[in-house]
Amino acid sequence: MKFGTKAIHAGVHPDPETGAIMTPIYQTSTYVQRSPGDHKGFEYSRTHNPTRTQLQDALAALDGGKHGLAFASGMAAIDCIVKLLQPGDEVISTNDLYGGSYRLFTKVYATYGIKFHFVPMHDMAAVEAAVTERTKLIWVETPTNPLLNVIDIAAASAVAKKAGALLVVDNTFSTPYLQTPLELGADMVMYSLTKYMGGHSDTVMGAVVVNDDELHQRLSFYQNACGGTPGPQDCFLVLRGLKTLHVRMQRHCENGRKVAEYLKAHPKVEKVYWPGFQDHPNHAVAAKQMRDFGGMISFVLKGDRKEDAIACLEKFQLFSLAESLGGVESLSGHPATMTHASIPAEERRKAGLSDSLIRLSVGIEDVEDLIDDLKQAIG
Ligand SMILES: *Cc1c(COP(=O)(O)O)cnc(C)c1O
Repeated sequence: MKFGTKAIHAGVHPDPETGAIMTPIYQTSTYVQRSPGDHKGFEYSRTHNPTRTQLQDALAALDGGKHGLAFASGMAAIDCIVKLLQPGDEVISTNDLYGGSYRLFTKVYATYGIKFHFVPMHDMAAVEAAVTERTKLIWVETPTNPLLNVIDIAAASAVAKKAGALLVVDNTFSTPYLQTPLELGADMVMYSLTKYMGGHSDTVMGAVVVNDDELHQRLSFYQNACGGTPGPQDCFLVLRGLKTLHVRMQRHCENGRKVAEYLKAHPKVEKVYWPGFQDHPNHAVAAKQMRDFGGMISFVLKGDRKEDAIACLEKFQLFSLAESLGGVESLSGHPATMTHASIPAEERRKAGLSDSLIRLSVGIEDVEDLIDDLKQAIG
């Protein structure tokens, strides 16, 4: 089955009771048993819920994986993965990581005795140099947020295998429409479903997809034991979002390209970050592992002044100023004060994240209107 057909059909089946074509929202906490232990596979909704099961199966199919696990947020999914570690274990991750992941790693798990190394992962030699005999997890996010660096997943997988570590890819920015990390050697793919996967800015959820049965068992133990599971209504919303993932992503990519090209040609724009440009430093890796280049773009205005960036953000009419990304509507953001405020200023500077950087999540509106909005806001 091809991707678009899978997005609509994989994992879901008409309701056996009524024939309802859409997966019902099983809004129930518990399930009646005929006799103690004699049930239909569902006992309690933290552990299993039929709406969630269908979503998990659909997610697994889209990534070419065997098992999907859904969580109440992307952070709950990340938290579940880090629970696989023990005190003394070490993690290598990228130095322009999603701010929430950075906060969870450094403010929560570092205090439990897990050590985190943040390196510029688009330089694989920097990753190799950070490997020790205690490296247990390599955490890739690609393209990175908000600098759109591209990390070579197959190369990271080779380093992880040599180190005896597990490789996780946070695939939130790319979705399985653009890249399928399990096929490139990753052990786990992680999502904030809140973004492109749900796609309509109406729910917060997360997921992990894996192939390995034992890893799946360990993760589902923590999923149930720690309880960061989503409700059935949210699972329904993400299932509905997935059905148009391929169509939305195609338009995000088309619009993204036009917006990136417009910005690059603009006399007041100093620099545009988008992996689809031939002169993007990681373009070759992006072209190798991604099917297209996505709708996330960052840019800096000439003069690199924070106040100019803020004035531009205040003028946007269509690019609403808001946290988050990946919805049908275009959004803008100021990473230094919004998504990445939890990363210390010095770390941000080291990673090359300027205080005047503007991040765009290009939506699926008519691109002419988006370009008009950029025109009036940049001036
Ligand atoms: C939003 C996001 C997360 C966190 O997901 P939530 O659903 O907000 O908990 C993790 N990684 C990336 C790349 C994100 O954009």
